[in-house]
Amino acid sequence: MARTHYIAGNWKMNTSKAEAVALAKDLVAQLKGKKNKFMIGVPFVYLDAVAQVVKGSNIILAAQDCAATGNGAHTGEVSCEMLKDIGCTCVILGHSERRHEIGESDELINKKVRRALAQGMEVDLCIGELLAEREAGEAENVCAFQLSAGLAGVTAEQMKNVTIAYEPVWAIGTGKTATPADAEAIHKFIRGYIAKLYNQKVADEVIIQYGGSMKASNAKELLAQPDIDGGLIGGAALKAETFVPICEIE
Ligand code: PEP
Repeated sequence: MARTHYIAGNWKMNTSKAEAVALAKDLVAQLKGKKNKFMIGVPFVYLDAVAQVVKGSNIILAAQDCAATGNGAHTGEVSCEMLKDIGCTCVILGHSERRHEIGESDELINKKVRRALAQGMEVDLCIGELLAEREAGEAENVCAFQLSAGLAGVTAEQMKNVTIAYEPVWAIGTGKTATPADAEAIHKFIRGYIAKLYNQKVADEVIIQYGGSMKASNAKELLAQPDIDGGLIGGAALKAETFVPICEIE
């Protein structure tokens, strides 16, 4: 079935405020009228400034994390209510850097997923195996576990607001990319697993992005695979000239 390509840029902990605003302005101008779906994941402190730039454009504004609870005594946290208040409608959750650098558990990620969905936000849920897990033949098991744990309690109806980003950890920021055939195999597995968790309709409709050193030179072949519906892009998303060409692939 035809799914619209969904190209997302994860800016991580990068840019100054001026650079964030300038990049957002470039993207608004260059992506205007383009066919695919687009999102940028912006550092918390620049979300408000970037929200003013992308307002009314075809670019979805995402945070890179959110609190698992509503407003209250939670020092340092940022709630979905606060994000929505400034025009941020999407959140990237379970990114491998939060799983492996910060130590976020699948249980915590699931709480955040349910919280964001209950607040009517879109969620981009990242899953993916470490190199050792891949070498041990565990890639599918890891993805299956992260999917069932991350989506626990999420209804079929709510899945309309969920995108899955498959990001093999060994490919993130390393310059190593899964071959299109390897990536397609695991994307196909993920779609099949979602059919088991929900039903075939949900599986057919869910967008599954690939992430891991995606750039203009490898994106076309990756996006041509039947179960690769988009990309979550880190390094190449920090400049319009490297991000826009990926956004333009139909
Ligand atoms: C990411 O951060 O989600 C990512 C895939 O990074 P990069 O494109 O730099 O590998």
